[in-house]
Amino acid sequence: MQDDQPTKSTNIVRVDHKVSPLDRWRLNGHTGGIMWFTGLSASGKSTLAVRLEERLHRKGMQAYVLDGDNLRHGLNADLGFSPEDRTENIRRVGETALLMAEAGFVVISAFISPYRADRDRIRERSKGNFHEIFVSAPISVCEARDPKGLYKKARAGMITDFTGISAPYEEPLDPEMIIDTASTDVEGCVDQLVEFALVQFALESFDSEPDPADLYREPGSD
Ligand code: ADP
Repeated sequence: MQDDQPTKSTNIVRVDHKVSPLDRWRLNGHTGGIMWFTGLSASGKSTLAVRLEERLHRKGMQAYVLDGDNLRHGLNADLGFSPEDRTENIRRVGETALLMAEAGFVVISAFISPYRADRDRIRERSKGNFHEIFVSAPISVCEARDPKGLYKKARAGMITDFTGISAPYEEPLDPEMIIDTASTDVEGCVDQLVEFALVQFALESFDSEPDPADLYREPGSD
């Protein structure tokens, strides 16, 4: 189901929280939001996401990684890699990320998320708390790394619909950040991400009480 499709259920009424986003931010000492990593398989999303999570945690921040492979074992166990299933995969994890951001977390999501429209839909729903991070490396570099042997299998025809080989990858047109993992080592990339997160999720960036209605999700597909 997509956002622009009507909600199936009727007679549903939103429950208003008595704890505001700002209450949660004050408790945590930082705002919540999403760092949405996108890039080819083996570009470095998972490696950087878990390192970033660790660094932010050590700084006392509530950070949590949503990882593609992990969620495909549970929430998305019923989905494959067809274009429709990829879109539904990203819709579900996007909604999960939005909920977690609303709960006050810095959500670090690591999904190939190959379609621009799918990423843009989450951005639109997020009301400004979505930061698209393009984890970039040429496919030749990704293929040479091939930590899970997936490119080899895809080239041998053992995996169909493989992003970059037999399925498309649509690069972000205007990401908030580009991390070039082909020319910067892991430590250097993580340093850049930590610096970005500390600025973006600083509580001080809000000098007046925001209206909760202006924060997080657009009403729609929930
Ligand atoms: P993805 O999650 O995008 O599929 P992974 O993080 O699983 O990618 O794999 C990336 C591989 O590239 C790892 O083996 C990692 O050690 C290696 N690598 C080399 N340089 C970098 C870098 N600068 N950033 C991230 N990963 C890198």
